[in-house]
Amino acid sequence: MSRYIPTIGLETHAELSTSSKVFCTCSAEFGGTPNSRCCPVCSGLPGTLPVLNKRAVEYIIKAGYVMNCDISRFTKWDRKNYFYPDLPKAYQISQMPRPVCLAGKVRINVDGEEKDIRINRIHLEEDAGKLVHDEVNRISLADYNRCGVPLIEIVTEPDFHSADEVIAYIEKIMLLLQYAGICDCKMEQGSIRCDVNISIAPKGSSELGTRTELKNLNSLKAIARAIEVEIERQEELLDNGEKVVQETRRFNEALGETTAMRSKEDAHDYRYFPDPDIPPIIFTEEELAEIRASIPELPEQRVARYVEEYSINKKDADIIVGNKKICDFFDEATAAYNNPKAIANYIIGELMRRINLGEADMENLKFGGAEFAQLVEFMQTDKVSQANAKTILREMIENGGSPKDIADAQDLWIKEDNDLLAKVVDEIIANNPKPVEQYKNGDQKVFGFFMGQANKTLKGAASPKAIQEYIRKKLSE
Ligand SMILES: [Zn+2]
Repeated sequence: MSRYIPTIGLETHAELSTSSKVFCTCSAEFGGTPNSRCCPVCSGLPGTLPVLNKRAVEYIIKAGYVMNCDISRFTKWDRKNYFYPDLPKAYQISQMPRPVCLAGKVRINVDGEEKDIRINRIHLEEDAGKLVHDEVNRISLADYNRCGVPLIEIVTEPDFHSADEVIAYIEKIMLLLQYAGICDCKMEQGSIRCDVNISIAPKGSSELGTRTELKNLNSLKAIARAIEVEIERQEELLDNGEKVVQETRRFNEALGETTAMRSKEDAHDYRYFPDPDIPPIIFTEEELAEIRASIPELPEQRVARYVEEYSINKKDADIIVGNKKICDFFDEATAAYNNPKAIANYIIGELMRRINLGEADMENLKFGGAEFAQLVEFMQTDKVSQANAKTILREMIENGGSPKDIADAQDLWIKEDNDLLAKVVDEIIANNPKPVEQYKNGDQKVFGFFMGQANKTLKGAASPKAIQEYIRKKLSE
């Protein structure tokens, strides 16, 4: 057991999914040929004038609402000055000194325990470009496609005490941002990036220790590991009577260690001053109310609705809502076939199982919710057996297509062939006198044996109900 308690604060950068950049009309989409999505404004040429993207402002206000912030009716823009080759203007336009969203909170759940994480503020700024370092030719290349992509920074109070809490929080805000439709949250594309502040103090101490900052972590795995490694490093220092130095550190994922990047002494003086090109904004109550009303249904409301309207249990509803893509798929399926419970069961039991096995992924699914719903309906109405439904689903995952066409092509329908059913079951009963005896002596469990044998031979040619009825009839003769 450690003698120390860690205290962690988080700054999360989220790229907003507007179609254009925050101060010009260039595409804000990820990727593209280097420097193909730039104009004089976002590449910082002199004499250009930025024009604020209204959508980006709406999005940050939505972010504030979904994280329960107070929304300031007044906001202004400042220049944050620093020189770095990925920033051609040599300043970033930011709301940092006067954020729109203040004092929010986000509820997390770790191992069944609920906890509120306080949000200090959320502000809007512009993203910088990307540098590509070519180690072989010893040159660095600059790609300005990302320059000017709208970025919100969500800053928490130091309310976390473990990596698990941090991960639960990031997963929660990603879900909120996705459901609100303001960020795609693709960590692998850098849409979400985190800076983590960590300090440790002896248990029972009322003072916080000296903190270090870990910069630009961009996967949940890296964040969890970096936090654990940095806590261990600080504990070792204090145990050896040494001091933690306030500095920014980098996490090396391959080596599993953090190394110093820069100390407090080289901290930037950003010389903030009001940007003369962009006027302050004053929102009216009507404007704010309109934005608030346009926020789609959020995760918690969806869970509640599924439990209440569809009678799906809370655990299953949490699983479906926990992934926006699956949730949208579920809604689509339910719209096509009004049997939410059966659809939820088959999504969780079969589709998600295939996804977890790596056989399917929601990004590249070759069929929609409506096709999936048709398959569930075939099972529910005894047109296709469970085993054959799995065959059909496998075919849909691999090659797409409708369940009906696949069942036709591969002859997978239940035929209700009563002659065949009678022949197969009669044979099983004749060949297994001992289980028949057991059943007649009151052992109900052997019934499953007969079902299993019949299913194996019939391969879906008769419905489970018909098989069951026929076996029961024969056994009671
Ligand atoms: Zn531009």
